[in-house]
Amino acid sequence: MSSAAGAGEPSSSSRPGKEREEGADDSNRKVEDEGDLGLELYGAEAGWVEARTSCPHLLAMPAASADDLARVPAPDSQCSRCHHPSENWLCLICKDVLCSRFINKHMLYHYQESDHCIALSFSDLSVWCFACDSYLDAQSILELRPVYEVAHLLKFGERPPFRSLEVLDLCNGQNGGSSSSS
Ligand SMILES: [Zn+2]
Ligand SMILES: [Zn+2]
Ligand SMILES: [Zn+2]
Repeated sequence: MSSAAGAGEPSSSSRPGKEREEGADDSNRKVEDEGDLGLELYGAEAGWVEARTSCPHLLAMPAASADDLARVPAPDSQCSRCHHPSENWLCLICKDVLCSRFINKHMLYHYQESDHCIALSFSDLSVWCFACDSYLDAQSILELRPVYEVAHLLKFGERPPFRSLEVLDLCNGQNGGSSSSS
């Protein structure tokens, strides 16, 4: 009495013929021929983004002390030479305020005369090094942070939102004392 059950169907798990998954990769290539308008936009944007995170001329800056930072003038200070009223540059070496290359070029002349090459724009708080011919990243360069922060405070009435700062961790220490149960 043995029921010979279980004689199931023969399992046909082996499928012949693999399917090709995605063989058509030449459909993506068409998009690149859009003309040179896209290229121009990309170029301008790349020039702006490339802010240096280091600069050998930072050594010329005075050490950031409370005394030195107190010399940072109001962002609406006028050019010390031609008295142009707005969008001037602050020389970070001597804290002189001078107008841009689009006005009377006094900051540029100042660099050529005195070799003071690092300046902060009071229009957007970007930092430019004339010697490097490049923007400097005020958020990632430690030497620039104090003066950038003071300028931001003077211009906007609040401190800049820095990315990740040890200084901020120190400030947050006042919250750390609370002992949570669970
Ligand atoms: Zn000027
Ligand atoms: Zn100067
Ligand atoms: Zn430089």
